[in-house]
Amino acid sequence: MKVTKTIEETRQTISAWKMQGLRIGLVPTMGYLHKGHESLISRAASENDKVAVSIFINPIQFGPAEDYAAYPRNIEHDRKVCRENGADLIFHPEVAELYPDGFCTHVNVDQLTEGLCGRSRPGHFQGVCTVVAKLFHIIQPDKAYFGQKDAQQLAVIRRMTRDMDMPIQIIGCPIVREEDGLALSSRNKYLSPEERMAARCLSVGLSKGRQCLLQGETNAAKVIEVIRTHIEREPRARIEYIEMVDPDTMQPLERANAPLLCALAVFIGKTRLIDNMLLEEPIWN
Ligand code: AMP
Repeated sequence: MKVTKTIEETRQTISAWKMQGLRIGLVPTMGYLHKGHESLISRAASENDKVAVSIFINPIQFGPAEDYAAYPRNIEHDRKVCRENGADLIFHPEVAELYPDGFCTHVNVDQLTEGLCGRSRPGHFQGVCTVVAKLFHIIQPDKAYFGQKDAQQLAVIRRMTRDMDMPIQIIGCPIVREEDGLALSSRNKYLSPEERMAARCLSVGLSKGRQCLLQGETNAAKVIEVIRTHIEREPRARIEYIEMVDPDTMQPLERANAPLLCALAVFIGKTRLIDNMLLEEPIWN
């Protein structure tokens, strides 16, 4: 497994692979890899000849009051995870490599970024799209793998790829969870033991919403209320949003039927966590 720091040496490796006609899968990450990332890397390894993992904490997707400086890092551990899950290349650039002095071009996806995380994190998706577009140009993958955990990000990247005619297949991968249901996230590291217990309310709340849907509730506001009521019982939790939207357009739904995405962001203490449930098949007609 090769580790590259510069665009130049990454391009050399990629061109050699392309010359041999090999298919390339890309898994973009910010590092501090866990089993959620592992699922993306091993899936990419099973569907491509070569797998590139990018590890880059992208400063332009963090707001000024967010956790860029504190974001956890452990490159030694990440190398091991990549190797063990079948990666062939880690692209691990410095900030100045991707954003040299004078950098002033950004990629913006409208509409899909107005609600959910886009409302409370202005500029976040512009930062994500800009870095992902750069990674796509550098690595030129056939397929790129993203987690359903960041459902809005997945929808936004799909749309950017389609709108900009990028010849890359975007593969969405299911959310990997802890045994008690908490979605794996590098940010779970910030939680104290008490907060870790409290954080269960996100996935339990979503399951209560799912039960409510399966019992025939068709009013989105009512399902959201059931989830809200459950999460509000947890004193350490502060809800930022709970929304029911179309999974492709991210536009709010009033009538709760598939395809639907119910997404939420909740602070547990100072840590902001997100989770969601996706309903692809109609429950009723
Ligand atoms: P990050 O390093 O947090 O930027 O995440 C890199 C990729 O891993 C993104 O596509 C995430 O959606 C995905 N990911 C993060 N957590 C999970 C999880 N629990 N299950 C599946 N994919 C995940």
